[in-house]
Amino acid sequence: MPRDNAANQLNEFKKTQKGTERLTTAHGCPLSDKLNSLTVGARGPILLQDIQLLDEMAHFDRERIPERVVHAKGAGAFGYLEITHDITKYTKAKLFSEIGKRTPLVVRCSTVGGESGSSDTARDPRGFAVKFYTEDGNWDLVGNNTPVFFIRDPILFPSFIHTQKRNPVTHLKDADMFWDFITLRPESTHQVSFLFSGRGTPDGYRHMNGYGSHTFKLVNDKGEAVYCKFHYKTDQGIKNLSAKRADELCGSDPDYAIRDLYNAICSGNYPSYTMYIQVMTLQEAEKCKFNPFDLTKVWPHAEFPLMPVGRLVLDRNPKSYFAEVEQLAFSPANLVPGIEPSPDKMLQARLFAYNDTHRHRLGANFTQIPVNCPYRARVKNYQRDGPMTVDSNQECAPNYYPNSFSGPCDCKSFGESKFTVQGDVTRYNSEDEDNFTQAGIFYKKVLNEEERHDLVENIANHLINAQEFLQERAIKNFSQACPEYGAGIRTVLNKLKSQAASKNTSISAAAASNAKL
Ligand code: NDP
Repeated sequence: MPRDNAANQLNEFKKTQKGTERLTTAHGCPLSDKLNSLTVGARGPILLQDIQLLDEMAHFDRERIPERVVHAKGAGAFGYLEITHDITKYTKAKLFSEIGKRTPLVVRCSTVGGESGSSDTARDPRGFAVKFYTEDGNWDLVGNNTPVFFIRDPILFPSFIHTQKRNPVTHLKDADMFWDFITLRPESTHQVSFLFSGRGTPDGYRHMNGYGSHTFKLVNDKGEAVYCKFHYKTDQGIKNLSAKRADELCGSDPDYAIRDLYNAICSGNYPSYTMYIQVMTLQEAEKCKFNPFDLTKVWPHAEFPLMPVGRLVLDRNPKSYFAEVEQLAFSPANLVPGIEPSPDKMLQARLFAYNDTHRHRLGANFTQIPVNCPYRARVKNYQRDGPMTVDSNQECAPNYYPNSFSGPCDCKSFGESKFTVQGDVTRYNSEDEDNFTQAGIFYKKVLNEEERHDLVENIANHLINAQEFLQERAIKNFSQACPEYGAGIRTVLNKLKSQAASKNTSISAAAASNAKL
């Protein structure tokens, strides 16, 4: 049987070796015997002075770090963004400063809800996170393969994620939890429609788009600002798996997407994506008929056309998955001069949450880990010490500011753009901010007949596992997006129920041959 690049990884390593290197302990001491413990007599016991054994075991005991609470399973790759179009009238961010400029980057694509050993082809949004190593520090655009998200207020996020994960008692995925939350928060209708469409099961990471999803602010060298959305469109073309094929792969090749990306890059078939922006002026944002900072909505292309910016190419696989992917730490708060946050409530909460989770997973000095280090900018600040300080800890420079001893100084020209905010402080209820218009457009205008059919089938095959009152609430919501949408789901649900009754089997068994989350 032919072996692919991923299967041959060890052979490839062997070819690079001229001889055999000396084996050592972690403190560098050469080892005389790596195969036998130090024992009293052939049958033991083992001596506590077997330093080699203790060194090996103690490190092994600590090999795992907490997996990410979301996006635990993923693939990473390195590459560059090459600028093809001038957008300097909108932003002074250095990576966009001239046509032809290349900025190195790392990308991590992932599923969201599953654990780090879960299947790559599960129905789920896919993460699409990019870290650009710019001269002004790292810029992270931490998005998904969908332009929208389930909720618009971050206070709901932990509960939402709980409903996508396992029931805390049974440790099983729970359709009641899923559909209860989704139907009580109808702003999720748009994203749920994406999730159960073909794009909820992309054919690997090379054949899907990426979206920055949030609204950001671009600022030019005159201090003028516009709002912006970022898109990456796959140059390989969109390709999705059918629900049946995705389900089969969950069993036969749960690492399908990681393998596909690794092999493509190994064989020189470098995936690429075209980067676009959409721009909205501050005046347009004030008059916009929908809230342009609402993450459950897109900006219509006809009103806010896509403008090409550059080409993102992935041309190197990680040299170590743990060092360069598992420890990779993205944060929407990693912004650079020329790119700023918008008032998007979800973005505002993510500005805090990502670095907070990295401090928990990787420790306070996670930016010293090589893959996270802003290596094209020199870090100079007044932070010191903490666990795993592995750089020079800023050596002899003063550790307080201001100081009279030539410590690093701030520079006003890098300041954020000024903006005005006003309004009464309260907890605004955003439950009813037009939850259905764009979901209706997606169903009626964007999808073709076959895609509509698949969407309805995929939803019904999952919804059937939830209680009847939840099915009714779901149908009511989908019907508000488009009456035929809700009616179509009801028809498939009724068909599944009568199939179960005639075969005298459980309803979930009737749906088992169809798509599952
Ligand atoms: P457009 O017709 O201008 O844009 C529709 C976009 O939908 C396309 O450009 C494509 O974006 C995407 N699309 C096409 N086929 C599918 C599919 N089968 N599944 C998912 N997405 C698809 O209309 P609008 O901009 O007015 O948007 C209408 C609706 O399209 C929105 O409500 C939203 O649901 C969906 N959409 C809009 C996007 C936007 O940024 N405006 C982006 C993606 C979807 P792409 O090539 O980026 O995939």
